[in-house]
Amino acid sequence: MGFSKFGLSPKLIEGVKAMGYTEPTPIQLRAIPLILEGRDVIGSAQTGTGKTAAFALPILSKLGPSGRDIRVLILEPTRELAAQVETAFRDLARFTDLQMGVVFGGVGYGKQTDSLRRGIDVLAATPGRLLDHIGRGNCRLEKVEFLVLDEADRMLDMGFLPDVRRIIDRCPKQRHTSLFSATIPPDIAELIRWTMKNPQVIEIGARRSPAENVKHVIYPVADDQKSDLLRALLDQVNYDSVIVFCRTRHRADRIGSLLKRNNHSVAILHSNRTQREREQALQGFREGRYEVLVATDIAARGLDVEEVSHVINYDVPHHPEDYVHRIGRTGRAQCTGDAFTLMVAEDRPFVEAIERFIDRKIERIKLENFTYQHSAVFENRPVQGRARGALGAVGGKTFFPRGSKKRR
Ligand code: AMP
Repeated sequence: MGFSKFGLSPKLIEGVKAMGYTEPTPIQLRAIPLILEGRDVIGSAQTGTGKTAAFALPILSKLGPSGRDIRVLILEPTRELAAQVETAFRDLARFTDLQMGVVFGGVGYGKQTDSLRRGIDVLAATPGRLLDHIGRGNCRLEKVEFLVLDEADRMLDMGFLPDVRRIIDRCPKQRHTSLFSATIPPDIAELIRWTMKNPQVIEIGARRSPAENVKHVIYPVADDQKSDLLRALLDQVNYDSVIVFCRTRHRADRIGSLLKRNNHSVAILHSNRTQREREQALQGFREGRYEVLVATDIAARGLDVEEVSHVINYDVPHHPEDYVHRIGRTGRAQCTGDAFTLMVAEDRPFVEAIERFIDRKIERIKLENFTYQHSAVFENRPVQGRARGALGAVGGKTFFPRGSKKRR
């Protein structure tokens, strides 16, 4: 049966075939019929579940031939996601005459203005740059029929919500709206009330569970041995491609340089790098020229990088949902992957918050042939202080390492 049962237009079925998709993913099974019916949809599926095609296919199918007015608008929190979503639309719609466009900040206006003025049917955009283009008279939104607010919680985190509201104000009231968000904080709930009509909620699996096909473990370690352990892990683990997540841009730069000095081919992705550097980093990593991508959360959220064999959290994320997003980079679609988290003593409340969030205890293991220094992280006693965002979990019953365990 595959995709043929949905009643998508024949040109899109051809596009799906060309992409090599044979079976719809769970979010596609749920979302495609609803959007085809014209329902507003709230999706809580993580990225990596096929959610872009879940909204792209029914929207494109309903769109008919090119009209050269923006009829589909997809708002994204980052330039990379906007570019990625435009590519996905372009790929799926390759047998139609529909015109795609993308606008985001950090680059010149020239090419974007030209493409907007030539006329496009589908626009993927970051909010600030889109408002700039509207202000310059380069585009209008009064013909928008389909609005997609993707990664809505991240747009909120990044302070884009006022811009998003301004943009929605410029779209016709009579439209279809889809919203995707890993979590629904109160501001997003308010946005939903204000922008959506009787939305249908689609939750794939438990919203909080990380991808099922990912094995994840924690490596406790003393703070000043973190980078040694990272190097040892990379030496011992049989990885194809790995993303190393760091908490700050500065740490990402430092770890990136360290790994380069140790003869790894490394790309670095964070928001302080120029657009060109970010694109080169991503493209090189996708094409296999770099085996390691060192990234911060904001830069990496939602990125579609195929077949990442490992995710290493060099720093424990301070927001539990970021853990789920980060390890969503591995085990995407049909692949399986491993996710490792380095944990120092101060991280314990954050790790406990993550474990409560995903409702699962993450196994602690030691790396073989690595000489560990003693650290409070190996003691089963409370840590002083309280971690922001860690839901008040401090110390108490935690863990003790289970001794060494061989991996691969
Ligand atoms: P997304 O969650 O939209 O970022 O998609 C994650 C990855 O899954 C992308 O590389 C898609 O091309 C791929 N994908 C989407 N739908 C399918 C499908 N039905 N079968 C196989 N791969 C898919």
